[in-house]
Amino acid sequence: MKAAVYKGNQTIKIEEIDTPQPGPKQVLIKLNFSAICGTDVHAYMYDALPIGTVMGHEYCGTIVEIGKDVTKLKINDRVVGGGGTPPPGKGAGFAILPRFNYRVDGFKGKPIRAYAEYIVMEEWEPMKIPDSVSDPHAALCEPLAVAVRAVRLSKLTIGGKIGIIGAGPIGLFLTQVAKISGALEIIVSEPSKLRRETASILGATKVLNPKKSDLVENLVSICDGLGADIVYDCACVNNTFNDALNGTKRNGQVMLVGVPWDNIFFKPIDWQAREISIKSTFGAHPEDWKIAMKLIESKKIDLDMMLPKESFIKLEEIPQIFEKLKTPTDELQMIVEL
Ligand SMILES: [Zn+2]
Repeated sequence: MKAAVYKGNQTIKIEEIDTPQPGPKQVLIKLNFSAICGTDVHAYMYDALPIGTVMGHEYCGTIVEIGKDVTKLKINDRVVGGGGTPPPGKGAGFAILPRFNYRVDGFKGKPIRAYAEYIVMEEWEPMKIPDSVSDPHAALCEPLAVAVRAVRLSKLTIGGKIGIIGAGPIGLFLTQVAKISGALEIIVSEPSKLRRETASILGATKVLNPKKSDLVENLVSICDGLGADIVYDCACVNNTFNDALNGTKRNGQVMLVGVPWDNIFFKPIDWQAREISIKSTFGAHPEDWKIAMKLIESKKIDLDMMLPKESFIKLEEIPQIFEKLKTPTDELQMIVEL
């Protein structure tokens, strides 16, 4: 099969590799769409992947082969790459291993994932796609589930006043999930004009360009002179994490959503007295996937806005797209059509 294979030193090559074969309790999925995640771009930039890894964890496809002991799924079922209920003791490493470290453990064993034509999964892992949900929409179930988890783990309640830093795909999903969860002020900070405009349409009550206006000042003045109840940092670089802490009110919360690979330095003396809590979230668990799929099915989330024509690329374009995504861009959600 064709796959986008990591070759080391920030290089991806499109190669022919062996098509994986399903074991007795596994299914073989022909991939239909595989969305590109900023976390993958970071792993590539920081050369954190063993040579031979195939990335891609936001996908959907059709089952084309099943192992002899598979009972719950059948050929031609359309599925997304997660959300199934794990049997006792099983589950994604990040969700069940007590000391999971993404930098060290995230790509152990050269995983072959979904920037490829086929993938093998355990029978329990995927989740069926409802008939009314299209393939490109279904592929966005994972990043939407990440936003769902971030909101569920945060202290957001109806009437909440929040900041969202970064309006890439996760920030844009978060904007929508926060809106339907009852947030009244949603202040989104993002340098790209297209992403700011998109955030406005999707529910942001105020968008600002951090290069032109001061985010902390805005958070404080819009949120009653106190600061935001919660700031979700989807960028997680030095400046943004500091802005999140400085823009949060007394007893407020900073939610670390983006996955930073660099050290972050901050000055607690400026905000420590407000007794702020810092909370982290990572990926999505099966219950978040199930909620995300219901939100898609019931059309409570606008996915078409996230997928303009320019979003769709071919597998062969992955190497140049990853190079492009290394620096800040205007892209919304990029998705590989397989
Ligand atoms: Zn992702």
